[in-house]
Amino acid sequence: YSTLRLILGDQLNALHSWFSGDKDDVLYVIAELRQETDYVPHHLQKVCGFFAAMEHFAHALQKAGFHVLHLTLDDTEQDDSLPALLARLCREYRCSEIEYQRPDEYRLAKQLAGMEIEATSVKCVDTEHFLLPFDELEQYFTANKHLTMEHFYRQMRRRFNLLMENDKPVGGQWNFDAANRGKLKPADLKEIPAPLLFETDISAIRARLERHKVRTIGELSEPFIWPVTRAQAKQLLSYFCQHLLPHFGRFQDAMTAHSPHGWSLYHSRLSFALNTKMLHPKQVIDAAINAYETSNGAIDIAQIEGFVRQILGWREYVRGVYWVNMPEYKQYNTLKASRPLPGYFWNGKTRMRCLEHAIGQSLTSAYAHHIQRLMVTGNFCLITGIDPDEVDQWYLGIYIDALEWVELPNTRGMTQFADQGIVATKPYAASGNYIQKMSDYCSGCHYRVKEKTTEDACPLNSLYWGFMHQHRDRLENNPRIGMVYRNWDKQSREMRDATLARAECCLDHIEEL
Ligand code: FAD
Repeated sequence: YSTLRLILGDQLNALHSWFSGDKDDVLYVIAELRQETDYVPHHLQKVCGFFAAMEHFAHALQKAGFHVLHLTLDDTEQDDSLPALLARLCREYRCSEIEYQRPDEYRLAKQLAGMEIEATSVKCVDTEHFLLPFDELEQYFTANKHLTMEHFYRQMRRRFNLLMENDKPVGGQWNFDAANRGKLKPADLKEIPAPLLFETDISAIRARLERHKVRTIGELSEPFIWPVTRAQAKQLLSYFCQHLLPHFGRFQDAMTAHSPHGWSLYHSRLSFALNTKMLHPKQVIDAAINAYETSNGAIDIAQIEGFVRQILGWREYVRGVYWVNMPEYKQYNTLKASRPLPGYFWNGKTRMRCLEHAIGQSLTSAYAHHIQRLMVTGNFCLITGIDPDEVDQWYLGIYIDALEWVELPNTRGMTQFADQGIVATKPYAASGNYIQKMSDYCSGCHYRVKEKTTEDACPLNSLYWGFMHQHRDRLENNPRIGMVYRNWDKQSREMRDATLARAECCLDHIEEL
């Protein structure tokens, strides 16, 4: 073969222009590698999901007549890095050229860009995945500078002419965020549809991971439920459009412990299929808009807009933030947070029901929906001052969809406010009141959400004020926060002291909460 083309585990894009060209002289390589299983401890379902999807993709390409080398951990045991593997394969197959698609992660992009292999030329091409071309990111994003997601999102709506009517947003407004905050009432719980789960046999992959002693976290009950083929991914998309999209926006921020389907609610669970590129974001947006337009009103504008905003807005936005700010972004720790992550993040054993639930389901399903990630685990780490490196490691390992380009701005930026305000204009800090408003977690909790200073008071209440007090100098002049301090100052001296003392006590005993 003259050319070796590398396909990374998150580049399973069957529509890439590579696959419409000449087949004969090209060898495609898809490889399981220890460097990828080990850069952080991953959830068992995440590793199995990536490996299974890679294997299916390799077989689909072979079936379509391409020359594909699918290498398992058994085959790459001798290669201690990706460049080492590529160098060996170029020698073995006498390839004089390597082509690869630009990695979405800085770590891999740097590794491949720095690769030098004797008598071999190396070429990087686009992944053809995102809506916004990579080369244009700098026209929208500036390093170290805040760009409001909403501003970016409106530009994207106009640019790609999505949910637009004569240059105006469909429905007369850009954003229906206010309609996205419904709380689930007991009667709503019975209506939540069961999620679509697949049944892939991954026992061989699992055995391989055990044989190679790959360290993983979390649990896996077989068969495997996540989509691992393009056909399954498309099925999941159709299922979402038909059964979940009609209520997606309304219950976007809701949380419940009282439904067997509460772990995924009306969320699409498409992030894994999107991040592995089995689905193209435009394909997902088009399918959802088509469902909205043909639904005879069953799907209203608040539902579809809320969904399109996540993919056209947030997903493209965090990618831009990531690329213009890396590698510095990974070092930011604006609030100088340094506490280690409590042990219950790894086993879910805490008396705080909200955390127990969000962490527990993350361990059992490698998934939590956005508000659980942002307002339960994320908020807790923020107001207790957990070291952002430890927060990143946890998020990067535990979720099936976790890849650094999307995880990092969400974690370090959106939840931890560690990025000097590049993503968020204020910290997403909340007390137990927010959890009570958006969920039914508090009713079965060991702690009392109405209490602030007692021994059984919800820890979030005092920790919230402890955090606000600690960072007063930085936050007080923020126009979106000033009011909070006025409320604090109105409380009696005794109450403030007792609240801060309780916060101190919670932090001193953080492992026992
Ligand atoms: P849905 O609620 O159905 O949303 C549809 C799609 O919109 C998602 O599949 C996703 O592609 C996109 N989306 C929604 N919110 C965001 C967002 N904030 N940033 C980027 N894309 C978004 N998403 C990841 O894909 N990988 C991660 O590693 C990841 N880490 C996160 C860490 C934290 C602390 C937070 C707060 C969010 C994180 N997210 C991450 C974003 C979001 O929580 C997930 O994309 C979402 O929960 C995936 O579930 P879903 O497919 O059911 O999403």
